[in-house]
Amino acid sequence: MDLVAEHAALQPALDEALRGVLSEGAFIQGPAVALFAAELSEYLGGAHVIPCANGTDALTLALMSLELPAGAEVIVPAFTYVATLEAAALLGLQPVLVDVEPATFAVDMQALEAAVTPRTGAIVVVHLFGQCAGLEQVVALAARLGIPLIEDNAQAIGATYRFASGETVAAGTAGAVGTTSFFPSKNLGALGDGGALFTRDAARATLLQQLANHGQSRKYYHQRIGLNSRLDTLQAALLRVKLGRLAANTAARQAVATRYDAALAGLAGLEIPARDPRSTHVFHQYTIKLTEAGRRDELKSHLQRCGVPTMIYYPLPVHLQPAYAYLGYAAGQFPVAERLCGQVLSLPIHPLLTGEQQAYIIGLVSKF
Ligand SMILES: *Cc1c(COP(=O)(O)O)cnc(C)c1O
Repeated sequence: MDLVAEHAALQPALDEALRGVLSEGAFIQGPAVALFAAELSEYLGGAHVIPCANGTDALTLALMSLELPAGAEVIVPAFTYVATLEAAALLGLQPVLVDVEPATFAVDMQALEAAVTPRTGAIVVVHLFGQCAGLEQVVALAARLGIPLIEDNAQAIGATYRFASGETVAAGTAGAVGTTSFFPSKNLGALGDGGALFTRDAARATLLQQLANHGQSRKYYHQRIGLNSRLDTLQAALLRVKLGRLAANTAARQAVATRYDAALAGLAGLEIPARDPRSTHVFHQYTIKLTEAGRRDELKSHLQRCGVPTMIYYPLPVHLQPAYAYLGYAAGQFPVAERLCGQVLSLPIHPLLTGEQQAYIIGLVSKF
């Protein structure tokens, strides 16, 4: 990422947004929050948007809105950011992990179906790295079994998915609830923490709004135990400016990805990210795989020495994290997730990456 350069280009508009909030003085639930929610709703094809404090709270609130009994099972992919699991664990629900597909990093549909039990309370899919998981199958499965579907859309805001019926939906709006994060490095990033929930169900939108604000229906009248999880007015005002750039930034990321694809396809021992033809890909990350043992770490060090930062998303799968040892999973239980942790490498990708910078990176990777 180059957030400093990205923000420099937007400086006058960001300054104006900041000054507006300072002069109005409504720092919590100020007018910018509702305006941002309405604008994002329009961008997402009309789904209700409920802003909140961060993407992890969004997942927690999504699960709270389902009002599941204690100990209900929540199916979560084994290859994801820890927050997806953390929300369920904190609520006293039982995370049930399933492996992913090696090509798309998306949840493995057969494994998902096999993990369903009478105690399953929710299915959570993650649109990892910017491409939708197999919504066609998972939406059908969730509908058939009457299990609510949550989409963790922290990485794929702006992506769309086309069903076999021809219907096209915005990522995060196909299930019962979608969640996203405005962490600064996400595709739509605030200048601090932020998050939001999406739903097409008006009653659920009202419930989520209440849950995010101390469970209150009106000030000092509390229907439910909620959270204090609101998007700051200041962040909403800044996000309104950045939302205006999202479509252009997504196109710029896609152009970078297309150039990487063309240059890196067919290199021995390297796999470029697989594209699911049903989904657009907004390339939150451009994640390659180095399939020969040890080569991923060697390439990472080589690029580091040449001044090219890369990241490993994620080095250790969630089921092998000490915090989740209590779930009782063992090494070897999710072989694809475990293998991916040793193979994946995310290359620099952001809207302002220059052709020259990218040519330098491509040259280093190809020669290596
Ligand atoms: C970033 C992220 C989150 C958490 O968002 P925060 O705003 O940092 O709490 C959750 N899930 C996934 C997949 C993410 O990438």
